[in-house]
Amino acid sequence: MLAGANVVMPTGTVKDGQVTVDGTRIAATAPENAQFIDLTGHYVVPGFVDIHNHGGGGASFTSGTPDDVVTGIHTHRLHGTTTLVASTVTGDMDSLTHRAGLLSELAEQGEIAGIHFEGPFISPCRKGAHAEDLLRDPEPAQVRKLIDAARGQARMLTLATELPGGIDSVRLLVEHGVIAAVGHTDATYEQTVEAIDAGATVATHLFNAMPALGHRAPGPIAALLQDDRVTVELINDGTHLHPAALELAFHHAGPERVAFITDAMDAAGFGDGRYMLGPLEVEVSEGVARLVEGGSIAGSTLTLDRAFKRAVTIDRLPVEDVVRALSANPARLLGMDDRIGSLEPGKDADLVVLDADFDLKGVMRRGEWVVDPQLG
Ligand SMILES: [Zn+2]
Repeated sequence: MLAGANVVMPTGTVKDGQVTVDGTRIAATAPENAQFIDLTGHYVVPGFVDIHNHGGGGASFTSGTPDDVVTGIHTHRLHGTTTLVASTVTGDMDSLTHRAGLLSELAEQGEIAGIHFEGPFISPCRKGAHAEDLLRDPEPAQVRKLIDAARGQARMLTLATELPGGIDSVRLLVEHGVIAAVGHTDATYEQTVEAIDAGATVATHLFNAMPALGHRAPGPIAALLQDDRVTVELINDGTHLHPAALELAFHHAGPERVAFITDAMDAAGFGDGRYMLGPLEVEVSEGVARLVEGGSIAGSTLTLDRAFKRAVTIDRLPVEDVVRALSANPARLLGMDDRIGSLEPGKDADLVVLDADFDLKGVMRRGEWVVDPQLG
């Protein structure tokens, strides 16, 4: 029994609260022989859910061996991410289908919560750190190839819905229970509304890799922000978004419709240096990843514990809202909110312990400490 902490529940924060763990789950009552862990002065929050993450710990989900992928997953677990969807970047179709097969095995083993395909069906005008020569239009038959290669483990696919085949692909994704995410897009406001009406429900890193908000041409940002059916991803690392842009999005969408993501690449939880993002070379300096050629931002080195601390201490968001954006909302998007996303009896014992300064002190996943708060 974790006792004495501020326990952040969906209904609010319980001061001097307790969380009882029995086996792999959260229990309603403590067994007689319960062991007490005093967490006075700490926060206990649900484990973080990252739906957009390309790697960490020096390892890439797009190119690494299965062992590398596990290294990346474990690195993010040490920072509180107890559920992670592995993201690919643009590659040729053969390597992507091969990748999907490899990642689907890790999903079947419970290491990841599925696959997010970012590219190749994105706009050359907004390619970011994706290889331009490998981009292609979202022909439904090609989209279908990736869905099939993922063997039921495709969770989300980011596409530029204004490209030929885009709207049909959105419908195909929805039919197969895969989240259609609008991103790396050059769409107009009207084209984005059409994509949402066709079933798109996520904005891939809102603001980044899409036209800016204009007063006569509001573009995708306005369409995605104003529709209640859409959850907007935000990268809260202080580099991808000005704090004022983050605040604008958060307050407009409301705390139920934001998912904080890392969009992390290999250098997350590892360090500066030269890396590969798919086929492209990346230089990481002072924690900021940029393409060697052209200087585009190439993912982040963020971990979700840092996103949490920034959101509370710099963005001044209420702790309960931050917990929604890091846990409850992405869990619901993935259709996993019956098992994860909040600290309720019966759910998986996935939780994070933070101190009074919101620095990470403990991580529990499925009832086992990944980071033990008693060891400091
Ligand atoms: Zn990404």
